[in-house]
Amino acid sequence: MAQSNSVRIAVLPGDGIGTEVTEATLLVLEPLARRHGIGLATEVLPAGAFHYQATGEGFPESSFRAAAAADAILLGAMGWPGIRQADGTEIAPQLDLRVRLNLYAGVRPVRAIPGVPVALADPRAREIDLVLIRESTEGLFHSRGQGLVTPDLAEETLRITRATTEKLSRFAFRLAQRRSAQRGRPGRVTLVDKANVFRAFAFMRGVFDGVAREFPEVGSGHHYVDAMALDLVRRPWEFDVLPTENMFGDILSDLGAGLVGGMGFSPSADIGDAHAVFQPAHGTAPDIAGQGIANPTATLLSAAMMLDWLASRGAGQGFADAAAELDDAVDRAFAEGLRTYDVGGRGDTAAVARAVMDRIGA
Ligand code: ATP
Ligand code: MG
Repeated sequence: MAQSNSVRIAVLPGDGIGTEVTEATLLVLEPLARRHGIGLATEVLPAGAFHYQATGEGFPESSFRAAAAADAILLGAMGWPGIRQADGTEIAPQLDLRVRLNLYAGVRPVRAIPGVPVALADPRAREIDLVLIRESTEGLFHSRGQGLVTPDLAEETLRITRATTEKLSRFAFRLAQRRSAQRGRPGRVTLVDKANVFRAFAFMRGVFDGVAREFPEVGSGHHYVDAMALDLVRRPWEFDVLPTENMFGDILSDLGAGLVGGMGFSPSADIGDAHAVFQPAHGTAPDIAGQGIANPTATLLSAAMMLDWLASRGAGQGFADAAAELDDAVDRAFAEGLRTYDVGGRGDTAAVARAVMDRIGA
């Protein structure tokens, strides 16, 4: 970590609405940082589909190196229909970062924001406040692009390692401890798997249970992924921290986003031992790009996660306070009537930034 109270943030706005939601977020971070006496030195770096189109490079090594050297990375969204690399694959620097920086914990909070419409009629849906932790380096994505394909057979590998499962489980229990302290209620970690069918998941359970014993004050349990899909619709307010395998996490986090207003309200973080990338869960949304109507809430909440993560790594209490105030300002803006286009309102990108800034320090 850099000198106390001052950090360096690498910013990769990317393509489409990625640039719009990032700009709105940087606008909000400035007065927030000033108010809490924290130094955020931001460096905007080129990467993405349009950069590829212009230069032949989707993710210049200089951008990667600057991002890897920063204290945290804030990312918009990348990729564009019709712009692909010579080998036909998508331009996805965010995946390069995940692999090269070993960001194994994909943190996807699912929280009902006051005033934002939720998908379920039950009044308890307003209390939804859980976190999915998607393992992001192995599982069913392990053989991606390298699976065996013959004219008659295709095979992909499910890979679960002890080392990554231990790290993921520890991360989950520490997060549950932190949330428990913040919310004043006991924490609970539930591993989502399919241990009844796959030996790999039975193994994952065994490793998870071993780590659970290190955290006796945090509740722990298991849930089959199919049952979890049902219960995330039937009683999502009962869950707290949900670590899971890569593909299960991919699917369940979209389900989770759908519960609480959609992609525009879904922040995410990809966290490793030394690095972390914070970004909205959504993509570049070509259908609405350039109109100034993208919802920047997911990115604002991701920035709050970034400040909180920096605080947890010793950047100082000012970062934790700034994170809490940003979350709270977003909540109050919507509770007091702000409605974005994606939920049928007229609040554009700039209006959200303004509404949140108005509530910082107020
Ligand atoms: P990716 O492949 O990168 O995940 P995707 O095809 O899943 O992208 P997104 O870009 O995430 O698609 O968006 C899907 C749709 O949701 C968009 O077309 C857009 O209409 C809407 N959407 C996504 N993010 C936002 C946002 N921040 N504000 C408003 N609408 C959004
Ligand atoms: Mg998508």
